[in-house]
Amino acid sequence: MSKRPIIEPFRIKSVEPIRASTREERQKLIETAGYNLFLVPSDAILIDLLTDSGTSAMSTEQWAAMMRGDESYAGSPSFARFRNSVQSIFGFKHVIPTHQGRAAERILFSVMCKRGDIVPNNTHFDTTRANCEFVGAQAVDLPVPEAKQPSLNHPFKGNMDTARLAELIEREGAKRVPLVMLTVTNNSGGGQPVSMANIRAVKGICKKHGIPLYIDACRFAENAYFIKLREPGYARKTPREIAQELFSYGDGCTMSAKKDGLANIGGFLCTNDDSIAQQEKDLLILTEGFPTYGGLAGRDLEAIAVGLNEALEEDYLQYRIASTAFLGNHISAEGVPIVQPPGGHAIYLDARAFLPHIPTSQFPGVALANELFLEGGIRSVEIGSLMFGEHAQMDLVRLAIPRRVYTQSHIEYVVEVILDVWRRRDTIPGYDLVHQAAFLRHFTARLKPRGIRA
Ligand SMILES: *Cc1c(COP(=O)(O)O)cnc(C)c1O
Repeated sequence: MSKRPIIEPFRIKSVEPIRASTREERQKLIETAGYNLFLVPSDAILIDLLTDSGTSAMSTEQWAAMMRGDESYAGSPSFARFRNSVQSIFGFKHVIPTHQGRAAERILFSVMCKRGDIVPNNTHFDTTRANCEFVGAQAVDLPVPEAKQPSLNHPFKGNMDTARLAELIEREGAKRVPLVMLTVTNNSGGGQPVSMANIRAVKGICKKHGIPLYIDACRFAENAYFIKLREPGYARKTPREIAQELFSYGDGCTMSAKKDGLANIGGFLCTNDDSIAQQEKDLLILTEGFPTYGGLAGRDLEAIAVGLNEALEEDYLQYRIASTAFLGNHISAEGVPIVQPPGGHAIYLDARAFLPHIPTSQFPGVALANELFLEGGIRSVEIGSLMFGEHAQMDLVRLAIPRRVYTQSHIEYVVEVILDVWRRRDTIPGYDLVHQAAFLRHFTARLKPRGIRA
């Protein structure tokens, strides 16, 4: 292996200034926001790691393609280019554009599920679970046991527990399971990949019972690259070839183009089933739009068509995975507790282990996220007791890395800020809730730190 550093495989053509603030300014901002980072204006943030969704920087080729966007209502050549690009990677017969991943989920579950059905997944993403439950079906998570131990290192912690899948289908009957889903990478499970062997095994069980397998494909390119790096037999295959094999085991997929589509908006739904596709297109027309644009502008379709291919470029994936791992490995080497190993799109800090003096009732994840903002203007997101209430299994702080946006020196800055907070972790206070909404309270909650800061 060459000792030369992995560099950003791009140069910068258009820059967006970010502004440093003083600690006093940040203290004022967060007080005004009720100590909820969702309520802080984004232009007051120095490094924004709230999400990797829709925050990618587009390439010169994507911007050029957007100028070719054809905005015709029906039969636009932009749709043909979009469909060809999706099919060359995903291989599915029908490609249905939607405005986001969740619109694809809503249509899929409306067509395929009814009350009383069961949908197994390695781990449902929150919108996937909500859309599944909205049609009266039960969303069941079947992660491997390794997924529940943050500090445990395992190459494919995103895998589904195939023994539990087989047992569930046999116990409940295949008739109650209209589809099985696999989320690659497993976002809610720490951005951890699923192995090709696991996908094959899940497909084998589905096939035996005549159940279709759908892939939640949001981070398919990152998952393909992890397979290349970690699974025997794939080192010499390209990420594109690996992705093609991965999708060959699926009967369809849902996709948010805001992730590995390298676009700022968009998604799609695919299936090989003609009759299902027809029903899905009928529903699409009702709320999203005609099947050749699905709620997107022609220029959005063009940006996705190019972005899907760029997301599979090996030098991009190498830089992306290395950059995320750099952050995780450097803070972990100093003792900071993180979900191991570093995921594809994000690093998750284990806030309960980071702040053992703060009980879960005082939101250790919120306390840590707020401290990263106060210390260095970094925005992250709590995934824990504020988001899930008493159902929270862990209190995590997610640092999601937008694609092609931040450079190595930005990541080094984030490492230093986290380490500064780590060194004075004993002084960090817990929080009390002052106001909460009836559902999805984490978006609008207002909180107050306990006691007086040292
Ligand atoms: C983001 C995401 C979705 C939903 O996509 P949106 O475009 O945000 O609607 C579904 N599944 C996973 C795994 C995701 O990360």
